[in-house]
Amino acid sequence: MNDKPTLLSLEKTSSADERFPTLTDNQIARIAAYGHVRQVQRGEVLAEAGEFTARFFVVTTGQIEIVRLSGTNEELVAEYGPGMFTGEVNLLSGRRGFSQVRVTSAGEVIEVDRHHLMTLVQTDSELSDILMRAFILRRVALIAHGYGDVVLIGSSHCAGTLRVKEFLTRNGHPYSYIDLDHDSGVQELLDRFHIAIDDVPVLICRGELVLRNPTNQQIADCLGFNDAIDQTHIRDLVIVGAGPAGLAAAVYGASEGLDVLVLESNAPGGQAGSSSKIENYLGFPLGVSGQELTARGYTQAQKFGAQMLITKGGKKIVCDRKPYAVEIDNGQRLPARSIIIATGAEYRRLSVENLSQFEGAGVYYGATFIESQLCRGEEVIVVGGGNSAGQAAEFLAQTARRVYLLVRSARLAETMSRYLIRRIEQSPNIVFLPQTEIVAFAGSYHLDRVSWRDNQTGKIETHAIRHVFVMAGAVPNTHWLDGCVALDAKGFIKTGPDLSRDDLAAAQWPLTRVPHLLETSLPGVFAVGDVRRGSLKRVASAVGEGSIAVAFVHQVLHE
Ligand SMILES: Cc1cc2nc3c(=O)[nH]c(=O)nc-3n(C[C@H](O)[C@H](O)[C@H](O)COP(=O)(O)OP(=O)(O)OC[C@H]3O[C@@H](n4cnc5c(N)ncnc54)[C@H](O)[C@@H]3O)c2cc1C
Repeated sequence: MNDKPTLLSLEKTSSADERFPTLTDNQIARIAAYGHVRQVQRGEVLAEAGEFTARFFVVTTGQIEIVRLSGTNEELVAEYGPGMFTGEVNLLSGRRGFSQVRVTSAGEVIEVDRHHLMTLVQTDSELSDILMRAFILRRVALIAHGYGDVVLIGSSHCAGTLRVKEFLTRNGHPYSYIDLDHDSGVQELLDRFHIAIDDVPVLICRGELVLRNPTNQQIADCLGFNDAIDQTHIRDLVIVGAGPAGLAAAVYGASEGLDVLVLESNAPGGQAGSSSKIENYLGFPLGVSGQELTARGYTQAQKFGAQMLITKGGKKIVCDRKPYAVEIDNGQRLPARSIIIATGAEYRRLSVENLSQFEGAGVYYGATFIESQLCRGEEVIVVGGGNSAGQAAEFLAQTARRVYLLVRSARLAETMSRYLIRRIEQSPNIVFLPQTEIVAFAGSYHLDRVSWRDNQTGKIETHAIRHVFVMAGAVPNTHWLDGCVALDAKGFIKTGPDLSRDDLAAAQWPLTRVPHLLETSLPGVFAVGDVRRGSLKRVASAVGEGSIAVAFVHQVLHE
């Protein structure tokens, strides 16, 4: 074993006690009621690395250690003595554990299975606080130190690398990153796993499987993100989309006792997850990154027992029979007594001929810390006149040399909040270009040059700019609904009072009551957040709608 400091010693900060707390006798006795006492011997392995995390241990006497195995090397992650306990957020999701749990000094532990642990955190508020805080802080430390089961080999010049980084980050999955452009000794690793430069990004998954430029779905499959989830039984509520609206519905639904399954085609967080700083969400006077806010919601939903299928998008609703079902990519049908559609919206793609060549390699649809590091000290373009574009321009101006904000309209006043307009006006390195649009991209592997046209004069200019952030015109994600619910002319879902008599007649609405607020033209199927016609396109309203819809779900389940 090497002498590398453990997480315990690395994290000697004020929060170390919260990350590695010692329980009182009374608290241990309350946990014991949910599990059983077990004698353990020195050297005994209580859980293997890579095992689905189904058990939780509290040490009453003796000592156990958490060890990270890498080939023949062992690395001590943490040590737990009497009163301390194992586990991190994998215990909530049931996903694979990253480390081995081993006894170093014989004694006694309390073993609790995952099902009983979930009951405990949902019912004992004091223990819930202690355990949840420790689990989350331990995960934060694992992420900070890259102590996961994944090594990503990539390059900042490669579009796939950014995508994989964002996917792992949004799923809160720890990984270590090897940068082909900067890290020494990379060749040895490439040779060991027979990796060619053209294969990047490469993911070494659980030390054994080498995935070359994997899709997000292949990553989720390799890491077993969905393995612990039963896809066959009838759920009270299936939620499609894990942005703020879907996550809020999951928190309320699961906390109110519903059997909830959430389907997410990509990674949790939705548009909000790509926001650098949300400043208008209640309770965060200093602002909060969209990723942090939605990561909290994701963990909160799991705490209450909501399950999440990641990279499994809804392909259609089987709406001609009850219970309904949502069909996912592999043709699997997930039966549901009620459904909440929270699939949000996506930015419209620019109509520039070779756009797809540069998506992820110079053209981005979100501006988070990861992207901001790619364009440090350079000139960048933000396209769009809404709050998301204004926020991105302001955020990127902190690291970029200059930010050009391009909009097709003449002014920002109709589309952007006053506080953002003021900050943009006061920022010396943001250049506002009204009535301007991008007409051409150029570059080989990565975007190198951008041409834009001033629509007032018709003049075209070309600039050596390598990074463009597109945040213009949202399109609803409703293409998959295939006529099951009534849409408006722009493809947004009509709900409640927006549904006319004609809409209901065309949909053959079968009930004597009118649709509930947020209910679509299909009874028991609701739409919330940005995907809904008339929604406000704000995090708070999406969260509010997701929460309100659950009240109506209860009503239809009792109909
Ligand atoms: C960069 C940026 C900054 C922003 N800043 C702010 C701000 O400061 N304040 C504010 O109030 N609002 C802000 N917004 C707007 C806010 O983020 C959105 O209003 C909010 O995220 C909408 O939430 P939603 O859950 O309805 O949809 P979304 O956030 O769009 O989430 C929808 C989810 O559904 C998933 N999905 C799509 N189709 C399927 C399918 N078929 N099956 C399964 N899953 C699917 C998507 O992958 C996504 O995760 C910002 C938006 C952006 C992009």
